[in-house]
Amino acid sequence: MLNQTGSVDLHTHTTASDGELTPPELLAKALAENVAVLAVTDHDTTAGITELRAHIESTSVDVGHLRLIPGVEVSASWNNMDVHIVGLGIEIGDLRLQARLQEQMERRARRAEAIAQRLEKLGYPNILAVAANKAPQGIPSRPHFAEALVSVGACEDRKQAFHRFLAQAKPAYVKTDWPDVCDAVRWIREAKGVAVIAHPGRYKLTRSKLERLVCYFRDVGGQALEVAVATHGPDVIQQLAGLALKYDLYASQGSDYHGPSMRWVQLGKMPPLPSRCQSILDLL
Ligand code: AMP
Ligand code: MN
Ligand code: MN
Ligand code: MN
Repeated sequence: MLNQTGSVDLHTHTTASDGELTPPELLAKALAENVAVLAVTDHDTTAGITELRAHIESTSVDVGHLRLIPGVEVSASWNNMDVHIVGLGIEIGDLRLQARLQEQMERRARRAEAIAQRLEKLGYPNILAVAANKAPQGIPSRPHFAEALVSVGACEDRKQAFHRFLAQAKPAYVKTDWPDVCDAVRWIREAKGVAVIAHPGRYKLTRSKLERLVCYFRDVGGQALEVAVATHGPDVIQQLAGLALKYDLYASQGSDYHGPSMRWVQLGKMPPLPSRCQSILDLL
């Protein structure tokens, strides 16, 4: 049962993807900040959960009433646009899922080479080695490239690196052949997880296009929307609550925590779910 005294955070990252805290550090922070339910949802990998489980088994850390939910944030594509699908309560030992996530890593590795080539043409050679050095498995994501650009003095901060080079339509942006949203949903459901559209308010979609995405996602077996997200404003939250109700979808909540340097996002902190929503915790 949910410990009602703590917070619920169903979207977080660790150093297994582009987060700043190791899985044990994230756990320690969750315990210190009275998080009652924590889902670790790294980009396209469950390595952080494996590491966390090993850490809990091999040390005397007392997780108390904290409930850990295994998750993943799958990079997907819809209508030529990157969309993230969070899977919650997945069986991380599912071999099909792991093979699929391995393919995601291969896509990331190919994309990293292509990003490095673009940066080289733009006058920044040898960024790949710097970025890879900062990345899990030596496969850098865009935030690792951003950090590398900062560390060689090409940009002032990560935000500027995205703005100048790495964000969609910028000169070092490389389109990735991510799987369609329907595949991401299927992978998650076949691994016994619940599929959730991550941060729907962040895709800069018109109301009607967002509704089309939600409708498509529901039709292919998607089950929930992230309604309460740290970066969603009150209007967006109400809009998403309305869509969840209209399409009979559950509502999730998460901070999308990446670490202490993003000071405006804190672990376990996000606006409350509107009371008309049906919480995804009923499914998990
Ligand atoms: P990737 O998975 O390699 O495409 O990188 C996407 C990640 O980069 C997201 O999960 C965010 O953590 C981060 N990100 C995306 N856009 C920006 C931005 N404009 N500024 C800073 N970080 C960003
Ligand atoms: Mn990220
Ligand atoms: Mn995301
Ligand atoms: Mn995320």
